[in-house]
Formats: sequence, C-alpha cells, structure tokens
Amino acid sequence: MKNRELFKTGSKPAPGELIMVQGFINTLDVEGNTDDIGTRQTLKSWLVRHGLLSATATVSSADLKAALALRESLRSLLLANNGGMMSPASLSHINSLLCQYPLAVSFARDGDLSLVPAAQGMAGALGQIVSRVVKAVNKGTWFRLKACDDPVCQWAFYDNSKNQSGRWCSMAVCGSRDKARAYRRRQSGQRRLPGRRK
Ligand SMILES: [Zn+2]
Repeated sequence: MKNRELFKTGSKPAPGELIMVQGFINTLDVEGNTDDIGTRQTLKSWLVRHGLLSATATVSSADLKAALALRESLRSLLLANNGGMMSPASLSHINSLLCQYPLAVSFARDGDLSLVPAAQGMAGALGQIVSRVVKAVNKGTWFRLKACDDPVCQWAFYDNSKNQSGRWCSMAVCGSRDKARAYRRRQSGQRRLPGRRK
C-alpha cells in the first residue's frame, strides 16, 4: 500500500500502521483552516477510502461529532508527547471518549496478540485507529508521534531524531518562525510565559 500517497504526513511520516493515526490527525490543517473530514460526507469518504468503513454504512451527525472529538483528543496527546502538559480533566475526558471504542484481544496467525475493534460500523472504524494507537504504545513508537510545537501549525509529525527532541514538523518553517518570535520577545524585553510547553 502506498501509504505516503494516501495519508497526509508531510516530510516526517510515521512508520508502519501508525501512519494511519498520523493521517487521521492531519485531516485538519490548523494553519490552512481546511478539514478533510469536516462533514458527514467527507468523513465517510475518508473512512471508506482507507478501508475502515463499508460504503453502505451511514454516518450520523453524532458520528461526525465523535470522530472530530477523537481526532482532537489524539492531537492533545501528541502535544503532550511534545513536552506539553496533560491535565487530569483532559485525561479523563479522553478516557471517556475511548470507552466508545471497545477492543477485543485477538491472536494473529503468527502468534502475535493484538487488540482489534470489537464493534462494527463507525465505532469499529474509529476503533481501528484506537487499536493502532495501542499497538504503537506497545511498540514504543507512539511517543515519537508529536504535534508541532508551533501553536498555529500543530501538524502531526514523527520525530526520528536520535534523542527524541524534535519540536517542529519543519525546522525551516515552524522552527524558524519560533526563533523569530523568540527574537522579537527578547527585543521587547518580554519573557516567554510559563505554559504547557517546555
Ligand atoms: Zn509545524
């Protein structure tokens, strides 16, 4: 499967099955203000195109709301992977969302044990994405999937750096923008406010 053609990854694609999670989060271009799954129709076609949902399935307004909530919860986890803080309230909100996607234990033919969606339809489709997050956590790749530290960008990128210290989806764009902001702050004598970022 030509994953890089299918999913929006930018120049830092996630490895293996995690690329689908990255692509799901990057359906929203925060900076460009475009959303590939912003309507019931576009959400359905994205899920069908990636083999997660049957073409005969229906997507309700509640399904759309749930998908967008899941996506933004995943993005907040990626911000946390980039040194951000996760409040107990945010974490319990995310955990309550995840309850909608039950997973079941399943053995593969090679003896590998995995968690697969236990539900059908939309809950199963989004459950596929959740199950890939679980798999990535177990493999240790999850913590390298980050949301760009530039607040206007927040693009999901895979941090391949040796010491896992990458902050931006693109050093040339977001990294230099951050440095310009820091420069302006220094010129005006302001200090960076303590926030969720390191
Ligand atoms: Zn960025």
